[in-house]
Amino acid sequence: MTAALSPTDQRAREVLKSVWGYDAFRGVQADIVRTVAEGGNALVLMPTGGGKSLCYQVPSLLRDGVGIVVSPLIALMKDQVDALRQVGVRAAFLNSTLSPEGVREVEAALTAGELDLLYVAPERLLLDRTLDLLERAPVALFAIDEAHCVSQWGHDFRPEYGQLHVLPERFPQLPRVALTATADERTRADILRVLGLQGAPQFISSFDRPNIQYRVAQKEGPKTQLLDFIRSEHEGDAGIVYCLSRKSVEETAKWLQAQGIEALPYHAGLSPRERNLAQDRFLNEEGLVVVATVAFGMGIDKPNVRFVAHLDLPKSMEGYYQETGRAGRDGLPSTAWMVYGLADVVNVKRMLAQSLAPEDVKRVEAAKLDALLTYCEAATCRRQVLLSYFGETLAEPCGNCDVCLNPPRVRDATREAQMALSAAIRTGNRFGAAHLTDVLLGRETEKVRAMGHHLLPTFGVGREHDEKTWRGLLRQLVSLGYLAAGDHHGLSATGKARPLLKGEETLKLREETLVPKPAKRDRER
Ligand code: ADP
Ligand code: ZN
Repeated sequence: MTAALSPTDQRAREVLKSVWGYDAFRGVQADIVRTVAEGGNALVLMPTGGGKSLCYQVPSLLRDGVGIVVSPLIALMKDQVDALRQVGVRAAFLNSTLSPEGVREVEAALTAGELDLLYVAPERLLLDRTLDLLERAPVALFAIDEAHCVSQWGHDFRPEYGQLHVLPERFPQLPRVALTATADERTRADILRVLGLQGAPQFISSFDRPNIQYRVAQKEGPKTQLLDFIRSEHEGDAGIVYCLSRKSVEETAKWLQAQGIEALPYHAGLSPRERNLAQDRFLNEEGLVVVATVAFGMGIDKPNVRFVAHLDLPKSMEGYYQETGRAGRDGLPSTAWMVYGLADVVNVKRMLAQSLAPEDVKRVEAAKLDALLTYCEAATCRRQVLLSYFGETLAEPCGNCDVCLNPPRVRDATREAQMALSAAIRTGNRFGAAHLTDVLLGRETEKVRAMGHHLLPTFGVGREHDEKTWRGLLRQLVSLGYLAAGDHHGLSATGKARPLLKGEETLKLREETLVPKPAKRDRER
């Protein structure tokens, strides 16, 4: 039995079919389209690839006048407009890439009512000139894309977005639909406040991407690990490999090529022509691997990306979700694969600490990074951790992540953590992981002797474990906030360490890092 379609629903279906050729709306799309087409406001939270565009494009066509789409992604506007024009929609954009003459043309079309959709950069929208024009033009609705940019708490704060309160102030009678793929509770509250959407219906889709298998491993030779991963599971598949720096992008791409894997570098240092070429090849060829900085992927809509690999840590859970979300848009099995190590954790923490951003921004970023690190260290289902970050509860472990498939054993690591923390404290809270490991293992290096650290009671207390174990443990202590990374990679115990040191708290960690050193190697030393 199918519920009778309302007249709006019926018209929406017709437009969807005649313009885009699609047979049905996905999930909540139909409800959103009805709400907005009938003049209501809405907040739409839908993961990347979920189909947000149709939520404002169809209502724009159903209502009289032009749909104004506010978007910060200037680089994508032209493509979006071209795609719409191809299906016969009268679309245009207004941003800084247009010539003065181009701007005049678009403005004339706007006031003449000759447009269905107009994409506008926020800074352009906020000009008095544009706002005045909009007051005279027939406007169907405002769609605010990437709405999380209004929030300082969001990872992508844009001051101009904060000014968008002019929309409810100057155009209270026009429907507003805010769309985003990433919004936790606080960001959501900011969006509602700035855009005047209190009381509007919120359409929240699940963020779960069941076909993506999430995996995180310790970094032990990242290039080889990556190659093994590709060869054993994704030979000949299209994939994206994310690295932090241009240099490592170049190196990794070159290295993969040398190993016989078709790989292309992509980063902001390439010319626009080279970047377009890489993008086109990735979209149109089969089985290409793009090695990229995060600059790559914004708006890439390739359905059959089979894996996304991270050789460096993303900055936040939002970043991780967005980047891994580029895998498996066709719904077929795909892999989100990441390796990370102590040096990465120390590096990103230090970069954050040294950034020139305002203190409150830094605090937010630090909290976001910590959430990501907790995810990396998780000994429970990754998907549960990931979804709970986005405010969603997954009742059962997913069965399709490394933790579910290969449960790590957890073990009480309180004693080892105390050893490592006291090594940091007794050496003055200023030495890096390598030196602390030497102290714990009782290695009389030159530096150890010079500092007199071979005389410390902590010297050699950790001999029962090997170097890898201590590095892993130190990484977990940094990730979990017991140790802070300062300048020159120095590690210092934090306030959080105190109860642990006093034995008032215990710590359970993944066992992988607590394998006792084989007795034989012990004797060889
Ligand atoms: P988002 O903006 O949420 O990342 P898009 O609006 O770009 O997602 O949509 C992602 C892809 O899904 C696009 O290729 C789009 O054409 C397709 N799509 C969206 N809705 C539907 C639908 N109802 N039927 C078929 N394809 C759809
Ligand atoms: Zn799981």
